Amino acid sequence: MPCVTLALALVLQGPLTIGSVTARPGEIASGFLDVPAGVDSGTRIPITIVRGREAGPILALVAGTHGSEVAPIVALQRVRRELDAARLRGTVLMVHVANMPSFQRRTIYYSPIDGKNLNRVYPGRMDGTVSERIAATITREIITRADYLVDMHAGLGAATTSWSTRRARGTRAPRSTPRTPPSSWASPRSRRRAGNSASRRRSMSSRTCGR
Ligand SMILES: [Zn+2]
Repeated sequence: MPCVTLALALVLQGPLTIGSVTARPGEIASGFLDVPAGVDSGTRIPITIVRGREAGPILALVAGTHGSEVAPIVALQRVRRELDAARLRGTVLMVHVANMPSFQRRTIYYSPIDGKNLNRVYPGRMDGTVSERIAATITREIITRADYLVDMHAGLGAATTSWSTRRARGTRAPRSTPRTPPSSWASPRSRRRAGNSASRRRSMSSRTCGR
């Protein structure tokens, strides 16, 4: 029955593997993306795949680009608890803490390892410093797969800057760090589906933490 075969192909989707994580249709799976050591130390990026039973668009939710902005990180953990993969059409990719070095040291905007702002080094490069390798890993594994992407920030950075600067003086990079906007956040597929995602994303950032 060709028509039945065609209908199933349009509705069902197969398993998805990203890094060490595999989620079959109707499953939620969590694990890590490894960022290998290079010119400096490596790190890991905790992720979750929520794979719906039926085929549909892929939404990526990214928290922790700026590790001191904890509200999106907590919010994303709550979102994971609320989602039911068995009732979902499409897939949700969650990056729980994009910038683990910054999260662990509570640095404002800049990495404690290379002094760079992860939000300004996309699409990244695997032969660069750790922030650039994080960006390259997220670009390759998450962004290029996504039809839609929300990069979540919060206003906590500015509120805690003076406290953090006193506490961790010297960990913040000089302002000479390049602040050009990311050149490519959305894949061509994403741009076709969602319009100019990169400009939307920059707009969202500027209304929250501003970096
Ligand atoms: Zn931010």
